[in-house]
Amino acid sequence: MARIQVLDSGTINKIAAGEVIERPASIVKELVENSIDAGATAITVEVRDGGISYLRVTDNGSGIEAGEVRNAFLRHSTSKIRSAEDLELVTSLGFRGEALASIAAVSRTEVLTKTADALTGIRYVNEGGKELIFEEVAAVAGTTFKVEELFFNVPARRKFLKKPAAEAAAVTDFMQKIAMGHPEISFQYIRGNSRVLHTPGDYRLKNCVYAVYGKEVLNELMEVDYDGVLGVKGFISRPQTTRANRSYQHFYLNGRMIRSRLIEKILEECYKDLVMPGSFPMAVLQITLDPSLVDVNVHPTKMEVRFSDEGLVREEIYKAVSRTLGQEDLMTRIVQAEVVPQVEEPVKEKEDWASVFPVMGTQAKTSVEIRPQEKIHKKELWQENGYYSGRQEVLPTVLEEPAPVYEVRPKVEVQPEPEVRPQPQPQSQPDNRFPDPSSLHLVGQVFFTYWLAEADGILYIVDQHAAHERVLYDKIRSVLNRGMLDSQILLEPAVVNLSISDYASVMEHMELFTRMGFEVEPFGESTVLVRCVPYIFNGPMDAGDFQDMAALLSEGSRNISQDVLLDKMAMMACKAAVKGNNTLSEAEARALFESLAKTTNPYNCPHGRPTIVTMTKQQMEKLFKRIV
Ligand code: ADP
Ligand code: MG
Repeated sequence: MARIQVLDSGTINKIAAGEVIERPASIVKELVENSIDAGATAITVEVRDGGISYLRVTDNGSGIEAGEVRNAFLRHSTSKIRSAEDLELVTSLGFRGEALASIAAVSRTEVLTKTADALTGIRYVNEGGKELIFEEVAAVAGTTFKVEELFFNVPARRKFLKKPAAEAAAVTDFMQKIAMGHPEISFQYIRGNSRVLHTPGDYRLKNCVYAVYGKEVLNELMEVDYDGVLGVKGFISRPQTTRANRSYQHFYLNGRMIRSRLIEKILEECYKDLVMPGSFPMAVLQITLDPSLVDVNVHPTKMEVRFSDEGLVREEIYKAVSRTLGQEDLMTRIVQAEVVPQVEEPVKEKEDWASVFPVMGTQAKTSVEIRPQEKIHKKELWQENGYYSGRQEVLPTVLEEPAPVYEVRPKVEVQPEPEVRPQPQPQSQPDNRFPDPSSLHLVGQVFFTYWLAEADGILYIVDQHAAHERVLYDKIRSVLNRGMLDSQILLEPAVVNLSISDYASVMEHMELFTRMGFEVEPFGESTVLVRCVPYIFNGPMDAGDFQDMAALLSEGSRNISQDVLLDKMAMMACKAAVKGNNTLSEAEARALFESLAKTTNPYNCPHGRPTIVTMTKQQMEKLFKRIV
């Protein structure tokens, strides 16, 4: 065997670089975080070739003193903590003191830096851990890092880099995230020859979100502003607007961007009645918390954190999100002002119609028709009606224009004034609230499905099936919360054959079935005897419904809480109960309005579809060109 030797520091740095420096985006992250820690108010990031051949980060922060520059590149050298005790209260983004050493070990790194009171700056070049240049130069206050030829001396790592476009995308992703985490800083991000991101640094998160995602997305967001044991500020999307994955969810803790399964789950929980399974709300949430209640040193890139009181954090964030959801008007509006053609751009008659009908058309499409007496699997129903992809079809409500993106402010000398002007509250017109049922003038029913009603210059259109589902669902849930649903004995027990996996899930969840009102017993291999079925308000369920529930449970019952399972079953039960009754008398329709008004969420059915949409007199007049 070879002799055991202590490795030299260059080798140690190269090995250690593997931990924090994976790709250009991780270098950008370290450098930008250093700039933030240095108190910069403007940070510019440039990449060429995805950052593989060249990246540069410029800030107007504190700068590094001439005598400290070399030290900054030493391993475990940091100005941010002095001892392990400081870790308890660390508020800076960096503290491990290894980024610069690691970056320099695997690239050609150049820094140009000057503090405010130094007369000259320092230019320092380090290649693969070796110092090449240390000289005094003229410079402005602040720091510029240039990193070239990443992994020039570690071909094995270089091979693992992706194509420049993919590396650039990772940098873009980071820049968007960090920009939304720091509205107080003006970020510019230049990729190749184009500036792809520019935030104003005016302390307004809204303007950052606007710069990152644009107006369309911003219009779909509701503002969160919660001040409890924790502070939670930011934006969450209206339930109508979701995404197919979580890449639009951004969380920050005391200015540090974090990944958090806990917060993801809280969002899931808050939106569970409002969105389809498999779709995710957008969120930008900035959480502030006493730093001693959180451990940030559990992961080398510090993306994961540990809360000392997870229960408290969960409770507080849950409150913040659910209050925002409850407060906000969730009613879908039928027409958006912008849909009406503008006078400046006259449109041909044909297009005029086109501009009206898509609105009506998409609305109609979002209502699920429940085919009488027919068993449709829930999932199919969603797909049929375009729900998985259809969220954008529901029209956004109108928000006021976000402020324009300003030019970057000059250097530190000019301190930006914190925003004191109260932000205009979105959505506060009187027509946002659910109408008082007693004041409604019932106009009638159309297409055997929709009820039209009028009050105070607003036309309300209610999808009776969706409304009915919401009402039943709430009733079922409240009965289930207290105990069991009523059940009815079948005159003759039904013999139900199940697939092996459905049978297994029935056995596993027997207690749930009992609570739902089923009485079931095993009857040979993968066959059961159903003796009793739930009796839900207007009628019994049948053995076929039982089969559907069994299938639903075995689909994804692992890792799902009992509560969520009950929920799924309640949804299914109300669907079964709503089937077939297309005719409603006026009195019944009025009763439905009244019960709907009392539900936990009168604006959406349990599957997330709207129950009620509105159109104001003014909007109708616009449609008919009585007003422009
Ligand atoms: P850490 O950020 O964990 O302290 P780094 O290796 O990233 O470690 O940086 C080492 C030190 O260099 C920092 O503690 C800081 O004092 C200094 N430094 C790095 N970048 C900057 C910058 N942009 N402006 C001012 N000081 C900086
Ligand atoms: Mg650092």
